[in-house]
Amino acid sequence: MRFENKNDNFYTIDVKRFYIPVVFVATCPKCGEEVRRDLNDWYLSYPPVGKPFVLDLACGECSYEWGEEIRLLISLEICSKEEES
Ligand SMILES: [Zn+2]
Repeated sequence: MRFENKNDNFYTIDVKRFYIPVVFVATCPKCGEEVRRDLNDWYLSYPPVGKPFVLDLACGECSYEWGEEIRLLISLEICSKEEES
């Protein structure tokens, strides 16, 4: 059993509201406050896979806005028992 990759380049997930149960935690470069962006609440829209893109962030303390580059990676693994050969 195996997976075959059909695309050598990046692709885009064709989903307007792509929720991930992950919280991005950063430090505001202006005031040093901890900034959290819950990706299960503030979804990604049509995110690219395997290619860096900018995640917009805003500080709740000083209203400073900036972006951090992130990359979405998807992995698959086979969980069925491998056939004995
Ligand atoms: Zn700030």
